[in-house]
Amino acid sequence: MVKIWGYKTAGAPDELFNQSDAVPGPTKEEIRVITISKARLCEGSVVVDVGCGTGGLTVEAALQVAPRGKVYAIDEDQAAIELTKSNVEKFGVQGIVSIARGKAPEALLGMPTADAFMIGGGGVSLRAILQTAFFKLKPNGRVVINAILLETATIAIAELKALGFKDIDITHISVAKGKQINSGTMMMARNPITIVSATKP
Ligand code: SAH
Repeated sequence: MVKIWGYKTAGAPDELFNQSDAVPGPTKEEIRVITISKARLCEGSVVVDVGCGTGGLTVEAALQVAPRGKVYAIDEDQAAIELTKSNVEKFGVQGIVSIARGKAPEALLGMPTADAFMIGGGGVSLRAILQTAFFKLKPNGRVVINAILLETATIAIAELKALGFKDIDITHISVAKGKQINSGTMMMARNPITIVSATKP
């Protein structure tokens, strides 16, 4: 079978993912590349994707950790679970991914210890999710939070400091994509994203 994304590098084009108006995502391809890079994954890593949405980051992480690694994807929304499942199958990584409906942080308690947590959802529960992630991460494990809201980023920074995470990195990314118009190429801005990442001591 020909793989839909047979490359080693992250950043599968957004159009390759099944999408739904009812579910956010996929996280845009350039943001996925940086998120995966901040998570510092290896073949065999165990990753938890909190708020998997469309499954964009779930699939990218699975491609990195295959064939021996594992990605645990959770979302509180049933439509997101079904869409993630369809994309996991489309990209042929069903052997790597375990998908479950559940609300973080409660749904994280039964998970095994992990090398990385990717947090794209959480809202008001972000502090509690980060506390659970700290508890569930292996030493030197990584946490990556993708924040659309400034408040999410500032809460994440404060909580990572309070928990004793090290190497806290805050990266703000603005992507613009070229669009062909009659007179040339016009750059169209996308929403800026703040990626907050850190290492468990
Ligand atoms: N990274 C995804 C998009 C994530 S959208 C992709 O690439 O496709 C954020 C998701 O987080 C939404 O689907 C939302 O339902 C989920 N979410 C928000 N808070 C949550 C919580 N506390 N527990 C579980 N899922 C949550």
